[in-house]
Amino acid sequence: MSENVHMTFMDEVAALPACDKINECIQCGVCSGSCSTAERWEYPPRKVIAMVRAGMKDELLKSNSIWFCVSCYLCTARCPRDIKPANIVHGLESMALKEGYKPPTTTTTMYRSFAGSITEYGRVYEFGFMLKYFLKTNPFAALKMLPLAISLFTHGRMPLTAKPVKGREQLTKIISKMSEGGVR
Ligand code: SF4
Ligand code: SF4
Repeated sequence: MSENVHMTFMDEVAALPACDKINECIQCGVCSGSCSTAERWEYPPRKVIAMVRAGMKDELLKSNSIWFCVSCYLCTARCPRDIKPANIVHGLESMALKEGYKPPTTTTTMYRSFAGSITEYGRVYEFGFMLKYFLKTNPFAALKMLPLAISLFTHGRMPLTAKPVKGREQLTKIISKMSEGGVR
C-alpha cells in the first residue's frame, strides 16, 4: 500500500517545497489583492489556499486557477504570515501535471521546452527551444515569427546550432537532483 494513501490534500500540499506554512493562512486576501493576473483565475490565490484546506482537490486542479501565475512573487513578499502562495501555486501545477490534469494554457509546454534546453545544453538555445514549443503547440504560429527569427539570425543574435556550455554534465546532475526533490 502506498505511503501517501492516508494523506489529505492539505498534507500533500504542505509537503511540497516551501509550502509547509499553508495552515497558518488567515485568509486576509492580501495575496489576491496583489496578484496582477488574479482576475483571470476562476479562484484567486486566497481562495486557492482555502480550497486546499477544504480538501477540494479535483475542483481546484481542474479549474484554470494555478496556471496563470507569472511568478512576480508580490503575494509572497506581502503575505503577513509568510505563507509563500506562489510556491503553493507552482506546487499545485506540478501536482496537476503529474496526475494528468490538462492545463488550459500552453505555458507549461513553454516551461518544459525552456527547461529541456537548459538540461541539454546548459544554456538556452533559443532557436531549438522555440521550434520545439511551436511544433508541440501551433506550428503555423511559427510562420508569423519567421521575419523576427531571420532578423535575429542575420544580426548574429540567434545561432541556428547549439553550443553547450563547459561543465554541462555537472549542471545536468544538479538539475536531476532538483527534480528528484520535487523542484521543477
Ligand atoms: S496573504 Fe497570506 S495570510 Fe493572507 S490570504 Fe494570502 S496566503 Fe493567506
Ligand atoms: S506570484 Fe503568482 S500568485 Fe503571486 S501575485 Fe504574482 S502572479 Fe499572483
